[in-house]
Amino acid sequence: MEERGSISIHTENIFPIIKKFLYSDHEIFLRELVSNAVDATQKIKRLAAIGEFTGELGDLTVKVAVDKEARTITIADHGIGMTAEEIKKYINQIAFSGASEFVERYKDSGDKSQIIGQFGLGFYSAFMVSDRVEIITKSYKEGSEAAHWTCDGSTEFAIIDAEKETRGTNVILNVTEDSEEFLEPARIRAILDKYCKFLPVPVEFEGEVINNPNPIWTKQPSELTDEDYKAFYKELYPFSEAPLFWIHLNVDYPFNLTGILYFPKIKNEFELQRNKIQLYSRQVFITDEVKDVVPEFLMLLHGVIDSPDIPLNVSRSFLQADSSVKKINTYITKKVADKLNELFKKDRTAFESSWSDINVFVKYGMLSDDKFYERAKDFVLLQSTDGKYYTIEEYKALVAPNQTNKSDQLVLLYTTDENKQHAFVEAAQSRGYNVLKLDTLIDSHFIGLLEQKLEKTTLKRVDSETTDKLIEKDETKESVLNDKEKEDLKTAYEQAISNQHMLVEVAPLSPDDAPVVITLPEFMRRMKDMSKSGGGGMMFMGDMPDTYNVTINANHPLNQRVLSAADEDKTRIARQAFDLALLSQNMLSGAALTAFVKRSFDLMTKE
Ligand code: ADP
Repeated sequence: MEERGSISIHTENIFPIIKKFLYSDHEIFLRELVSNAVDATQKIKRLAAIGEFTGELGDLTVKVAVDKEARTITIADHGIGMTAEEIKKYINQIAFSGASEFVERYKDSGDKSQIIGQFGLGFYSAFMVSDRVEIITKSYKEGSEAAHWTCDGSTEFAIIDAEKETRGTNVILNVTEDSEEFLEPARIRAILDKYCKFLPVPVEFEGEVINNPNPIWTKQPSELTDEDYKAFYKELYPFSEAPLFWIHLNVDYPFNLTGILYFPKIKNEFELQRNKIQLYSRQVFITDEVKDVVPEFLMLLHGVIDSPDIPLNVSRSFLQADSSVKKINTYITKKVADKLNELFKKDRTAFESSWSDINVFVKYGMLSDDKFYERAKDFVLLQSTDGKYYTIEEYKALVAPNQTNKSDQLVLLYTTDENKQHAFVEAAQSRGYNVLKLDTLIDSHFIGLLEQKLEKTTLKRVDSETTDKLIEKDETKESVLNDKEKEDLKTAYEQAISNQHMLVEVAPLSPDDAPVVITLPEFMRRMKDMSKSGGGGMMFMGDMPDTYNVTINANHPLNQRVLSAADEDKTRIARQAFDLALLSQNMLSGAALTAFVKRSFDLMTKE
């Protein structure tokens, strides 16, 4: 018996349109067809479980095969199969109307890239790579006849009787010339590897099962050991170092989500890799662009999220507004904070030792999400230059007695580079101050956040002012120089330096302080940093040279020597002292450095 017919849909020729739309994403046809085969297999299993199917289940492996000579790809399953009536109902109507609806909706859409990969085209996607698709199928229902359906992607189809002994469906694609790449076994294997690696039913290609049907995220945490989690991480990222720790996600209300998120070991901030989280829907790989599902700061994590509730067949803007996506976001954020808190409480030493790897997540999270800030503020750590770690509260208590200024502000001192700012760090420490290490890229933003959140607290870099001014107390300092001498000293240095971006002032520091101290005010440096990172509308700052303060210590014996020296020596000694100050801050280079070295030799020769 042969039946010919016409499929009734609204759009006449959808095939060329779809083909054009999805040009860059042709490979998803295999995901769709293998998923269908897996679904049909799951269905027969379920029917058997509830006693509606009592026959032999047999080997349920889904088999994918490529025949280069015949130019075909075959996807064969041993699932529920279809009767001729069901083909007409499910394929002719559902599959085709799904596809035509898709075209209707998107044919006028401007941004086609948004659609690609977001819209599962189901069975119809077979026509992206083939000019003729055949289905040979036999239903599980007793007494069913096998049927053979053929269609060229147009609205015309044919169904004839077929010879098929076993239950299940073979989908045969006759591959077009411009899709020849899919006749390469290596290509097919790569696609299967990408999309089908964790499908719940064994999938075989070239005699080998290519998937792991029971990935650990589908199991209960109580069934799993640390080794299982680590082994799974290796399976996902064969070239990565072992993860620090992980979170097993498992909810079924008010949305359904499972998965495992790993905290990777980070070598440096520039290596941060996004898009390392894979999104699955019922074990079918969907995408590794999780931008709208996972909070931005958690995109640095690795792992797998599986949720049938994430709508994948809609555009991105819709996804962002989707309420279950928002709930998923909140849930993941909370889980991550809880996990970090638990680690902090359970084993502080271990937490501290992994701090260099996790501080970026924590700080990034605190900066981008207020709820996360509230959760993390009790376990975020501050490290001082002596290597010790403190929580914010611990640190405040530690430094409050000595680092509260005369207006009752707590001043937290920090260094961004212990080596380069060594002289200042040492000067601060000699006054009994504690200095924090805030030396990563994210710290510059984190400093601002701390100031904004902590009451009556400011943060100052150790070299933003002379040490005695960092934390101003109520004490007056005596100067050994009178006003006239101070004025002369200032003039001597101004002449020696002769640079409008170096503002000279004379101040009575301690005789133990350096004779010349060069500082860049905190606010200036922050504005510069901001304009560098493109924020705050301060683009003009980028071109502006820094203006430094040069503080001449009136109480240092060297400056008395400058005052009493003969005119030509005055400039030389002042310049030498200024250059030494530059040198101690790594600010001396080029011609200035050469001149300095030459002058030093001259001075030594004269002595
Ligand atoms: P979807 O899978 O989203 O429902 P498809 O276009 O992929 O849409 O498939 C349409 C219908 O055809 C399926 O719902 C299913 O009933 C039927 N079908 C497709 N492939 C198979 C198969 N291998 N075995 C049995 N039924 C199938």
